[in-house]
Amino acid sequence: MAGRDIVEASGLSEDAEAEVRHRCGYGCIRCGVTVYHYAVLPIPDEPDWEAPATVLLCPECYALLRRHPLSAEQYGLLLRRPVLRDPDFYRQHLPFGSVLPQMRAGGPVPVHDVSVPVLAGDQAPLILSLPASGVGALRISLFLSGPDHVLRRVVDANHWAPEEEGWHFAHRESRYVVESDRSDARAELDFTAPGRLTVVRLRTWIGEVLIDLTPDWLEVNGTRMTGVIASRQLAGYRL
Ligand SMILES: [Zn+2]
Repeated sequence: MAGRDIVEASGLSEDAEAEVRHRCGYGCIRCGVTVYHYAVLPIPDEPDWEAPATVLLCPECYALLRRHPLSAEQYGLLLRRPVLRDPDFYRQHLPFGSVLPQMRAGGPVPVHDVSVPVLAGDQAPLILSLPASGVGALRISLFLSGPDHVLRRVVDANHWAPEEEGWHFAHRESRYVVESDRSDARAELDFTAPGRLTVVRLRTWIGEVLIDLTPDWLEVNGTRMTGVIASRQLAGYRL
């Protein structure tokens, strides 16, 4: 293979992506985080794989390995031994599980079985779904506003795929933090315990509407409401 840098995979078929996810254990091969790039390691691989040497790397590990490349031997170890394939790897604070998480969002009463906490027209900033195969990580999609207040894709079913420059992802203890240096939109999701999700912050414009969701309240254009996200609704609150 030419070059020694990790590169973003391109043109993967859905089957190839599914194979890569399964091979890697449904998260970053280095730290287990379930928001990721599909990336190609600069090493040879066994010929049987549809996407050879292609792995999942979270945005932080991807950036780190781009800045500080490893040796071929070290890449080989990562490829063969993704952390999530280690039965002893601690994954209690990562969003794995076979049901939608119980959510703390917009009030003190826990919210159950909600895929879309807030829907404005036909636009949703946060969409949660279970993996189609029943195996793998909770699928998270995020759409957040850029400087023009228009919603843009940032995460597409766990694939880190921002449509605009300037978005950053950070994993802090049990939190996924997504923010931009060009916009005041942000998302902060805390997987506090298995099957639990606290929406620490979900702030975005959707056109003229400013949505600001915290564990304790939901604000829509500055009007604060509590307990309006209803359990067992596809969309917990519709504008
Ligand atoms: Zn990682």
